[in-house]
Amino acid sequence: MADRAAAGRSARRKGEQVQPSDALLQAEAASIPTARAADIPSLDRLLNTDAMRALLQQYGHTQLVAVLRSHLDTLRQDALAGHLPMPRVDADAIARQAGDALALAAQPRLRAVFNLTGTVLHTNLGRALLPDEAVAAVVRALTTPANLEFDLDSGGRGDRDDLVEGLLRELTGAEAATVVNNNAAAVLLMLNSLADRREVVVSRGELVEIGGAFRIPDVMKRAGAKLVEIGTTNRTHPVDYENAVGPRTAMLMKVHCSNYAVTGFTRSVEVGHVARIAHQAGLPMTVDLGSGTLLDLSRWGLPREDTVRETIAAGADLVTFSGDKLLGGPQAGLIVGRADLIRKIKKNPLKRALRVGKLTLAALEPVLALYRAPELLTDRLTTLRLLTRPAAQMREQAERMLPALQRALGERYVAEAAPMASQIGSGALPVDQLPSYGYAIRHAGKGRPGRALETLQASLRALPRPVIGRIADNALWLDLRCLEARDEAAFLAQLETPLA
Ligand SMILES: *Cc1c(COP(=O)(O)O)cnc(C)c1O
Repeated sequence: MADRAAAGRSARRKGEQVQPSDALLQAEAASIPTARAADIPSLDRLLNTDAMRALLQQYGHTQLVAVLRSHLDTLRQDALAGHLPMPRVDADAIARQAGDALALAAQPRLRAVFNLTGTVLHTNLGRALLPDEAVAAVVRALTTPANLEFDLDSGGRGDRDDLVEGLLRELTGAEAATVVNNNAAAVLLMLNSLADRREVVVSRGELVEIGGAFRIPDVMKRAGAKLVEIGTTNRTHPVDYENAVGPRTAMLMKVHCSNYAVTGFTRSVEVGHVARIAHQAGLPMTVDLGSGTLLDLSRWGLPREDTVRETIAAGADLVTFSGDKLLGGPQAGLIVGRADLIRKIKKNPLKRALRVGKLTLAALEPVLALYRAPELLTDRLTTLRLLTRPAAQMREQAERMLPALQRALGERYVAEAAPMASQIGSGALPVDQLPSYGYAIRHAGKGRPGRALETLQASLRALPRPVIGRIADNALWLDLRCLEARDEAAFLAQLETPLA
């Protein structure tokens, strides 16, 4: 069956007429001699052929024998049913079959793709891409012993947070810092450490759901804290915070509206003001900044967001943010702020359960270090380089590669170089779009364009390195923002075989 399906596919690829499968079978049966079970070579004989010795070298005995046994079983069944063509019992044909099966099984499940969705920090496609410095550090940490929890000065035990705490303090102005698995873990740990069985005051306008089952009210519950909602969805006033403070209050908290915007008749209370109210009551004020930027991105024409430093300076006692959103580093959750509160957090046994591994710390340190040279950042920090690519660059790229794309698409589809808008992604600054350029591909023929575009989208996903675009307004859009020069050759190479 598999052979026939493959034959059908390659015939289609060459643009030949595909015969109905019954006719194909009959033609096969008429012209090719049929093998009997006795014609099938034995496992031992097969293992002694040159072709198999190469497979043994590559895949080892266990896997090869398992694949061969299963294939020989299929051949035997086909022989008993009377439709086993002689060429299929040839030792080389069996080796090819086994080689294909082993190669398929060996293909990693985690594969490189081309992110042409236009969303730079795409959560489903792995968010931030790391700069070469971080990659080198990870490789070193993977292959060499390192002072992960070893103090090189005293020779005694060290603390893994120390590896990046100095940089985080320097870049945020905070007294202390700690690192956990992701920002969701940071929020959970912070709440559990400081507000277990006590109340946390949050504005109704900030009870966000980030997606992937992260909802502030649910996290609050899991952390053992009691949520006290104040204000309304669109308006919260200082007096709402003041009135909510009572004997059971543990903290006042603000949450960044990462993936939505409240506009129109709105009112929220600034960090500084909430912090003053908290401090008057002798309570800490915390902020979940979500993406969390270390520098004001408006200097590069990107939307302005409060930085972590500004949030700390405004009076927040603790700030949590992600490592792999706008910061451009590995998946991590960073907590920075008052030293006494960070100490309390680090004493919580949950910290041990949520801590990061050495690969994360290895990647995080060089990424943070890049921020010491802001003027070089758009060149060195991959995320920022992608976010600041001018549309003219993508336009030039789109026009240059258009003939190759159109050739691969054939006559069923028409590609056009077109302006479009990229998104930052990961809930960072959701309403702001970045002018970009790429392809709008439309169905040329009759019939429902939706179906044809889905077929094309599936072919692009089936490529050795899948190409991920998006369908909107009767077109398949491929945004070139995240296709940098170093990946262009690989992209073009895949267009040498027809797509449709
Ligand atoms: C993204 C986000 C989170 C979750 O961060 P992860 O690093 O994905 O766990 C939490 N809070 C806010 C406001 C966010 O934007």
